[in-house]
Amino acid sequence: MSFAGNGIGITRGIAIGHAHLLQRGTREITPRNIDPVEIQAEIDRFKEAICCARRRLHSIREKIPKNTRSDIVAFIDTHLLMLNDAALVEVPISLIAEQGYGAEWALELQKESLVKVFDTMDDPYLRTRKDDVEHVVNQIQMALHEQDEEEDEENLTGKVILAQDLTPADTILMRHQGIAAFITEYGGPMSHTAILARSLGIPAVVGVPGITRILRHGELLVVDGEQGVVLADADSTTLSYYQRHIYEAEDQANRRLKLIGKPTKTKEGVKVSLMANIELPEDIEVTRVLGADAVGLYRTEFLYMNREGMPDEEEHYETYRAVIEGLNGIPITIRTLDLGADKQVDGCTVTASCNPALGLRAIRLCLKEPKMFQPQIRAILRAAVHGPVRIMIPMLSNLQEVRKLKTIIRETKRALAADNLPFAEHIPIGGMIEVPAAALSADAFSRELDFLSIGTNDLIQYTLAVDRVDEEVNYLYDPLHPAILRLIQTVIKAGENAGIPVSMCGEMAGDPRYIPLLIGMGLREFSMQPGSLLIAKECLLSLNSSKLTKQTRKLMKRLGEPRHETLLRKICKLH
Ligand code: PEP
Ligand code: MG
Repeated sequence: MSFAGNGIGITRGIAIGHAHLLQRGTREITPRNIDPVEIQAEIDRFKEAICCARRRLHSIREKIPKNTRSDIVAFIDTHLLMLNDAALVEVPISLIAEQGYGAEWALELQKESLVKVFDTMDDPYLRTRKDDVEHVVNQIQMALHEQDEEEDEENLTGKVILAQDLTPADTILMRHQGIAAFITEYGGPMSHTAILARSLGIPAVVGVPGITRILRHGELLVVDGEQGVVLADADSTTLSYYQRHIYEAEDQANRRLKLIGKPTKTKEGVKVSLMANIELPEDIEVTRVLGADAVGLYRTEFLYMNREGMPDEEEHYETYRAVIEGLNGIPITIRTLDLGADKQVDGCTVTASCNPALGLRAIRLCLKEPKMFQPQIRAILRAAVHGPVRIMIPMLSNLQEVRKLKTIIRETKRALAADNLPFAEHIPIGGMIEVPAAALSADAFSRELDFLSIGTNDLIQYTLAVDRVDEEVNYLYDPLHPAILRLIQTVIKAGENAGIPVSMCGEMAGDPRYIPLLIGMGLREFSMQPGSLLIAKECLLSLNSSKLTKQTRKLMKRLGEPRHETLLRKICKLH
């Protein structure tokens, strides 16, 4: 057996299958000029490629099974919209017409200039939107090379796809064709393809440098999507070891369905709240079916994306009202806009900062741009008459931000009353603790807020100075770093002392590797992507919280000492 590669595991799950090397998107595009008399023909060729890419995406969309999550369909819709975007259609046409460039080269130049803009954005989610540009361009380039239909015909059932990178569209189609797993050279855990792989349950490892050169088409591979490991030439003992894991995982998933409707309690009956993180209004269906106690994080950024201009108050209101009514009494925490520093939307011009992750983002941006923020606050207050709603502020770093937001909310209520519009008088206001300074000042925040939610995705990024989407430094992204554990414990204790609820809505909250420790620290509210709810519930039902509390106390006293690792292992084994 040989160890073929190590990357970032982005999904739980193991797969065994033969390698299928995908050559898509790997052609080198070189400068090409065309004869002036052929310019019109080249423009027509480019337009035909756009139509062909559109047809291919429509056909993928039609093949998506009915029960597929709506955000997956949304990926395709986004790409279809982009195929109508002037930036991707008109600009390359002008480059062909005015500069005499070949279609492929004109498109490549425009892609590079768009990607540069996305690279300067600080919000990790928005930065991954550059993937969309690359994926759509890839579709057009494929059409220009007239290769798409050939590849559609291939039988990929049970195959492990090896590729430099994959588009969300490819991922959906391949899942439909029954692929076992995929491995890519590029990508981080926050890329769209990674998000899709997780929600579709495809074992995958990304960020494995050179893997398409190391492995041969057709060879048998083992892909461990949790550990981020790829094995080739596995002997029969290794294969049966992994095969056993696959069977066990299938059994477990079926068993977990029986947990729906059961109360979430530890072994000694300590009640734990399991909440869902949602992004699109349609996520409410799965949240309801899986029996989440609440929506602990509703990311509202999606309302602002893939569109011209900003949503107005009515659009905000109608969206929130539909979500609240759809939840039918399940409480929801709506997070105010968490846009990145240099995202340009109509009516809100924000200059790029040289260090965007530390720049004008989230609440900082909202306080600076009241015209953008006001409609959202008005809409949330109005929508809150339709069900239990809390407001949550992202990226807090000081108390002035809380006070300013409270003033805005007070004034907004007065304005709504003057406009004779119904609104919720009492609406809890909470804050996300995702900046180390806020975690260290959690006691002060607890006195002024109604609840706290720990956003570990950013808290880890800022505490350890590790960009959460950068595959180069991803190995440093350690949720169990003593500094992170101290900060989490500080926040939980601050909430306890002030008598306000503390939840966690970062990825850590839905991961059974960390749940026992978090229970030991006193956390009782966990919010996660809906797909993790039953896995977390199964873990929680098996925990002995008083034992974990004692062990965790010991650990927290010994953080960073040699016994730290042993104690940590013990805690993780206590379930
Ligand atoms: C977080 O930072 O942990 C979080 C939940 O927010 P987001 O991932 O949307 O930045
Ligand atoms: Mg965050």
